[in-house]
Amino acid sequence: MENLGDALICGAGPVGLLTAIGLARRSIAVTVIDGEPTVVQSPRATGYFPPTIELIAEFGLYDDLSARAFRSHGLKLHFRLIDTIVELSLAVLEGHAKYPFFLSAGQHVLAECILRQLVPLPNVQVRWNTRVESFTQDARGVNVTVSTPAGAQELHADWFIGTDGARSTVRQILGLPFEGFTWPDRFIANNIRFPFDQYGFAPNNMLHHPIDWAVVARTGPEGIWRVTYGEDPNLSDEETRRRIPEHLKRILPSDEPYEIVASAPYRVHERTCPRYNVGRVILAGDAAHACNPCGGMGLTSGAFDALALVTALGAVIEGKASERVLDFYSEERRRVFLEVASPTAQETKRRIQQPSEEQQRRDAEMFQRVAADPEIMRAGMSGSFAVRGRPMLG
Ligand SMILES: Cc1cc2nc3c(=O)[nH]c(=O)nc-3n(C[C@H](O)[C@H](O)[C@H](O)COP(=O)(O)OP(=O)(O)OC[C@H]3O[C@@H](n4cnc5c(N)ncnc54)[C@H](O)[C@@H]3O)c2cc1C
Repeated sequence: MENLGDALICGAGPVGLLTAIGLARRSIAVTVIDGEPTVVQSPRATGYFPPTIELIAEFGLYDDLSARAFRSHGLKLHFRLIDTIVELSLAVLEGHAKYPFFLSAGQHVLAECILRQLVPLPNVQVRWNTRVESFTQDARGVNVTVSTPAGAQELHADWFIGTDGARSTVRQILGLPFEGFTWPDRFIANNIRFPFDQYGFAPNNMLHHPIDWAVVARTGPEGIWRVTYGEDPNLSDEETRRRIPEHLKRILPSDEPYEIVASAPYRVHERTCPRYNVGRVILAGDAAHACNPCGGMGLTSGAFDALALVTALGAVIEGKASERVLDFYSEERRRVFLEVASPTAQETKRRIQQPSEEQQRRDAEMFQRVAADPEIMRAGMSGSFAVRGRPMLG
């Protein structure tokens, strides 16, 4: 049995890595393990809003990420049934928010920024190709069995953190149900090279339509765009891939050639478990909760879990707070998911798929009022800071 000391983190996604760097900077011994050989590169989160950018700055990652990201103010809502476009600009937050803009960069870019600062720290180990298979816990810590290319290994740590994504092995071994529902439609995320900006698209766009809805957003400075749309869930993966050009034909503004760089079909959920801590095992990010990506709330809420967990568990390990603060971590982060993240994600999905002209007209008028009044826009943005939740330590 190899004793790793304070904390073992399962999952080197953005949430696990943020937690790792936050704990490591407090001189806590941290080991991160991941079943993959390197950072997962599949097309996933690309957009960072003002609250998330503020968090990224708190973690000391702003300069590195912003140097690799595309910075913009604009979001366009295309109400396709009534041929109306409403443009919203974060420029109205100038002087009211610390970071009044969007940053666009794949979540793997954020993960790589974190790793650049994490790996050189003396109290940190990052081990790839290391998959959690099982674990047991008692009052002194957690014994974890992992599989590696060299065979099975036994690891021990005082605390074990599951940031291993929506299909979390850690959550399943804890026996926690993932309560909620799965949406009937399947989402297809495509990274494509196409000059959307030459056709009047903003860096971030929502195409409102009951069937041919889409989220179209720049993924970074390289001119690659993310186009996410919905597909019939009964089709095979092969059929889903075969139909990508038909879908893109109905979404793209012209017949100009495009290049598909990557595609990923996935199911979307609104689910969470009844608690995020069981003894010395704690969950964060998608392992604890999953929502559809339309509102950009998945990574956003997971990143704020990481901040809360660093504060709460860091204080416990340093002997500055009792373990009860971890119960508060669980209750508060679950509340934020149920009251802020998931409702925002569901509302955004409902609006983008609005089925009638009448409903689209009402939504367009509402957003036109928002666009025309900086105060409403600012109030809306300050609401989005609610994803931060209440402070962990009084
Ligand atoms: C197409 C798409 C678009 C999205 N867009 C946005 C967006 O714009 N904004 C937003 O906020 N969110 C978005 N999301 C959601 C966002 O991607 C997730 O919320 C985010 O990845 C969660 O991060 P995580 O670190 O919790 O988990 P993950 O990123 O899933 O990381 C989990 C890690 O755990 C590892 N792992 C899994 N099982 C094991 C095991 N047994 N042992 C060891 N390692 C293991 C995996 O290899 C992986 O590296 C999007 C999601 C998708 C699919």
